[in-house]
Amino acid sequence: NEIILEVKNLKKHFNVGNGVVKAVDGVNFSIKRGETLGLVGESGCGKSTTGRTIIRLYEPTEGEVIFKGRDVTKLKGRELKKFNREMQMIFQDPYASLNPRMTVADIIGEGIDIHNLLSGKERLERIYSLLDTVGLNREHANRFPHEFSGGQRQRIGIARALALDPDFIIADEPISALDVSIQAQVVNLLQDLQKEKGLTYLFIAHDLSMVKHISDRIGVMYLGHLVELTESIELYENPLHPYTEALLSAIPIPDPEIERTRQRIILEGDVPSPMNPPSGCPFRTRCPKAMDICAEKRPEFKEAQPGHFVACHLY
Ligand code: SF4
Ligand code: MG
Repeated sequence: NEIILEVKNLKKHFNVGNGVVKAVDGVNFSIKRGETLGLVGESGCGKSTTGRTIIRLYEPTEGEVIFKGRDVTKLKGRELKKFNREMQMIFQDPYASLNPRMTVADIIGEGIDIHNLLSGKERLERIYSLLDTVGLNREHANRFPHEFSGGQRQRIGIARALALDPDFIIADEPISALDVSIQAQVVNLLQDLQKEKGLTYLFIAHDLSMVKHISDRIGVMYLGHLVELTESIELYENPLHPYTEALLSAIPIPDPEIERTRQRIILEGDVPSPMNPPSGCPFRTRCPKAMDICAEKRPEFKEAQPGHFVACHLY
C-alpha cells in the first residue's frame, strides 16, 4: 500500500513563562492509505499535540509532515485550502466541540459553506445524506447540540468531519468521553465508514484497550517521544518497551483465573515534567529495567525486529 502520511522528526515546543515545554520532541512514523494507526499514551505525552500539528492547528517547531507527497507544513493559500479539505479531525469532547448556538445543519454544513461548495437545496440534500451516513436522520437537521446524547453528538462531529470528503481523519480520543455501552457503536461506525470510503485514520487514545480492535498498527508515546510502534497483534503479544509492558499489564483480563495469577507492573512515580525531562531515556525515572547507560544516552528509535520499532537500550 502507498504511504499517505510520513511524519519526520516532528517537534512541537511551547514557550511558557519560564521555559520551554517539549510537547512533541522528534517523532517519526508513516501511515499507509486505508490503514488505522493507533497512537496511545498517558495525558500530556504529546499525542494530541502530534495530531494537531499534523493537521496544522499548530505550526511545528521542527520537522516535516509529508501528506500525499508534499510537505504540508509549508503550504499556503490555495494549496493549504485544498489540504484543509483532505484532512479532517474528530474531537474528544462532543459537548465542547459543537457550537451550542448553531443548528446541526449549520454545524455539518460549515465546511461546505467556508469552501463555497454547495448552496440551497443541494447543500441541504448533502447534509441529509451525511446525517443518514452517520445513523441520524433529516429531522435532526434543525435541532441544536444540547438536544442530543453524547453518542449522537459524536455522530454529528463525524458527519462534520466527512462533509468535505476527506481521505484522512485524525480522531483525537473520539470515544473517551462516551459511555462504555456507546463506545463500541461509534468504533463500529468509524470502521464501516473506513471500508466504505477508503479512509485512513490516526486514532488517538489514552489506553491500549481502546485502540486494540480498530488499529492495524499502534504507536506508544511517552513524554513527547514515540517509544514503540508495530502491528497491533504484535504489540499485544510481544511488547518490547518496558513502558508498553506496563500499559498492557494494567488492562484487566475478563478471565478471573488468568487475572488472579498474572503479574501487574506498577510504575513508580509520576510522569516527569516535559519542561524538565530526564537525561538519556525519557522513561528511565520510572523504568523497572533501567541501566546506567539509560541516564547517559537517549535510545534511538529503531527497527529491532522486522516492522517492530522501539526506542530502548535493551534492544
Ligand atoms: Fe528502560 Fe533503559 Fe529501555 Fe529506557 S532505555 S526503557 S530506561 S531499559
Ligand atoms: Mg489529549
